[in-house]
Amino acid sequence: SDSHFPFPISPDDFDLSQHYPRYYPAADKGDLGDGEANAPLIRFADVGCGFGGLLVGLSPLFPDKLMIGMELRDKVTEYVKERVLALRASNPGQYDNVSVVRTNSMKYIPNYFRKAQLSKMFFLFPDPHFKEKNHRRRVISMHLLDEYAYVMEVGGIIYTITDVEELGIWMRSCLEKHPLFEAVPEEEIKVDPVVTLLSTATEEGQKVARNGGQTFQAIFRRISLQEE
Ligand code: SAM
Repeated sequence: SDSHFPFPISPDDFDLSQHYPRYYPAADKGDLGDGEANAPLIRFADVGCGFGGLLVGLSPLFPDKLMIGMELRDKVTEYVKERVLALRASNPGQYDNVSVVRTNSMKYIPNYFRKAQLSKMFFLFPDPHFKEKNHRRRVISMHLLDEYAYVMEVGGIIYTITDVEELGIWMRSCLEKHPLFEAVPEEEIKVDPVVTLLSTATEEGQKVARNGGQTFQAIFRRISLQEE
C-alpha cells in the first residue's frame, strides 16, 4: 500500500515552496521573490525518475522551466532530494528548477497537475511487467494516456524509451491508437536536444549502454481534437 505517504488533494494543495523555494518563498517568510502569482508552474514531469539523472541533465538546458521527478521508492526519492540540494549548494543559482516527489504516478497525476499544464512528460526505462495479467500495471496504457493527455498542453511532447522490445512495441502501439497523440516526425526528433538525454542521462540508460543493449523509443505529440 502507498497510503502512508501524503499527497495533495488537488494541484492547488501542492506546496511548491518546499520544492522550489527560489520561485515560491515560504508563506511565513513573506513575499521575497517574484511573488507566487507570477511564479512559473511545473512544466516537465519525469515519471518513475529513479536516481534523477534525466532531471540533472535537463535542468541546465531549460533553466527557466520547473521540472519534477515522480518516484515510488522512498529511499530513491530521498537520494534524488539530497542530490538536488548538493547540486544547488555547489552551483549557486543553478538547479533551483528541479525537484522530486515520492508518489504513485499511476494514481495521483491529476492531484499534482492542472489541465494542459505540462509541456513534456518522460517515461524512461519503465518497469516492463511482462505477464499479461500485469499489463495493467504498465505506466503507459490507454487509460493512463487519457490522464497524461489531460495534464499536457496541446503541442506538448511525451518521450518514452525502453530496452525491452516487447514494452517498446506496447508503448508505441498505445500512443498510435490514442486519438490525442501523434508521432513526432523523424526530422524533428533528430534536432531535439532532449532526445540524446533519453539514452545517456539516466542511470538505467547508462547501464543499458554499458551492456551494449538496444533501445526502443516512442516520441509523440499531444494534439487537439476539433471538439476540444
Ligand atoms: N527512469 C529511471 C532511469 O531511466 O534510470 C528509472 C528507471 S527504473 C527501471 C523504474 C522506476 O520507476 C523505479 O525507480 C520505480 O521505483 C519507479 N516506479 C515504478 N512504478 C512507479 C509508480 N507507479 N509511480 C512512480 N514511480 C514508479
